[in-house]
Amino acid sequence: MKYFCMDGHMHFDLYKNRFNILEYIETNQSYTIVMTNLPKLYEKYYYEDWNYKFVRLSLGFHPELAAQYYDQISIFKKYVNSTRYIGEIGLDYSVSDEYNKEQQRKIFNEIIRCCRNDENKILSVHTRKAESDCLRILYGYKGKVIFHWYSGNLTCLDIALRRGYYFSINHQMTRSINGRRIINRLPLNRIIIESDAPFTTGMQNSYQLQFIDEIYNYLSDNRSVCKNDIIKQIKENFRMIVK
Ligand SMILES: [Zn+2]
Repeated sequence: MKYFCMDGHMHFDLYKNRFNILEYIETNQSYTIVMTNLPKLYEKYYYEDWNYKFVRLSLGFHPELAAQYYDQISIFKKYVNSTRYIGEIGLDYSVSDEYNKEQQRKIFNEIIRCCRNDENKILSVHTRKAESDCLRILYGYKGKVIFHWYSGNLTCLDIALRRGYYFSINHQMTRSINGRRIINRLPLNRIIIESDAPFTTGMQNSYQLQFIDEIYNYLSDNRSVCKNDIIKQIKENFRMIVK
């Protein structure tokens, strides 16, 4: 694609051949932050040949796996200073099990405690049905925070905006009523683009960059701003995050 391409949140390793995915990203020069769901996976990839110009590897601990793999917090701590990028992390209260939620909070608290003294970090945070607890745990954290695929209420969204957080939005959000309601609330200077591949529409079997165009078009039509200016702004937002 000829214009600025980026993906602030995707799971390269959930595809059959993750190396092909990374090659595709490099070839298309798309600035991409790739998530990991467990510290052990980060550790594994960390020791692989990692010479990508456009791809950044993120150290993560997915909330849906936090309770089951609780012990991996020690691996997280071992590698926390090996990268600026932290994700996917956060809370997910779509489970009903209180013990599970408690374990998630412990892990997330510990992660934020580890990052507390490093304002250079960039966090990709999952907040499903747990927006206010996420805000509470992040309180006072000075680094960059990106809420990924936000789906919560507008009160919490406004608090996040006041704190200077960014939001990564995907093409599936532009197709749903709730997603649109959220996107339309966001100032253009706080938006970056994500795919959350392979979890979004059309991404299950192959990773293609067309989703970026769909989001640019949506923003352009919806805000009555020409597409070029939308692209410029998204590029600037990304630059502000990684600078
Ligand atoms: Zn994700």
